[in-house]
This record gives sequence, C-alpha cells and structure tokens, in this order.
Amino acid sequence: MKPTEPVIAVGAVQAVVDRTADLLNALAAPNVAPDEVDAVLRAHGEVDPVTTAEDVAELRAAADELRSVLAADSLDQAAERVNALLSRTAHPPRLSNHGGTFSWHLHVDSDDEEAPLAEWFLASASMLLALLVSDRQRLPGGVCAARGCELVFIDTAHGSRRRYCSRRCATRERVAAHRARR
Ligand SMILES: [Zn+2]
Repeated sequence: MKPTEPVIAVGAVQAVVDRTADLLNALAAPNVAPDEVDAVLRAHGEVDPVTTAEDVAELRAAADELRSVLAADSLDQAAERVNALLSRTAHPPRLSNHGGTFSWHLHVDSDDEEAPLAEWFLASASMLLALLVSDRQRLPGGVCAARGCELVFIDTAHGSRRRYCSRRCATRERVAAHRARR
C-alpha cells in the first residue's frame, strides 16, 4: 500500500471483510456443501472447522440477511438494516485471543468457542458492516452490476464506488460495452 493513501480498512478489519465476502459468495451457490464452507473458513485461518448441513442452512439464511444490507439503496437504509441485525444478534463486544492461540480480535457472538457458526457469522459481519458505515459514511457494499451476476461485494475501495463483485465481471462488462458501441 502506498503510504500517502488514507488507511481505512486494514489488518483485522480487512481480514473480516475478505472472509465475509468469500463466505457470502460461497453461500450464494444453491447446493453449497459443508466441506466447501470449511474450505473457505480454513482459507481464512479457522482451525479445524466442522460445518454441518444444518450449519449450512443457517448460514445461508444469515447470508440472505447480510445481502439485504449490501443491497441497501441509501446509507440510512444500510444503517437501519445493520442496527436491526446488531440488536438481534450482537452481544456485548469483547476481545478474545482464544486462550493465546490467536491475535486479539473482537467477538460479538454469545461465546468465543461455542457459539453456533451462523450466529458467529451474522454477528461478526454485522459488526464489520457497522464499522465500515461509521468509518466511511458510504454504502458498505453492493450487488454486482454485471448482467446475470447477483453476487455481492463489500466495498473498501478508495475513491469512486466499486460496482462489480470481481475483476472478471468488470472485464466482461467492459468488453460487452465495447462491442455494443461498435
Ligand atoms: Zn459479478
């Protein structure tokens, strides 16, 4: 990162951004299997995740609720939706290092070790979206603008608002727009 850029989402916050976005998009697939969720969790540093089919169903419901925040049309609407999720899912924030096995990070789920996976996901992602809204005063994400793509993204870009879920979708739309002009 260039030192002149304002630093907004770094370190632990960026790690939760990446994990949340990857989980949301993995859970968007209709037949996502527990091992696929475990693979995403492992890729983001969780040790020995054990996701059950029941967890997947609950995680998919949680993902739908989080998508509604990312699909909000205005900052006020996004803030209201985040507040509704926080009031339902978040417990008093606390720092945990899991008995010294991780670096210190925030938990807002009911138990550092034993909270159900979907509760952990929904509570931590809601807290993340609250941090992003308060820090940036802009929508925390969006739905991909590419035709036929309904994936969501979390926006931590500098400058203009991000529009696509991935570089692949951005490129595809640019090529399509270019062809349409010829
Ligand atoms: Zn896309």
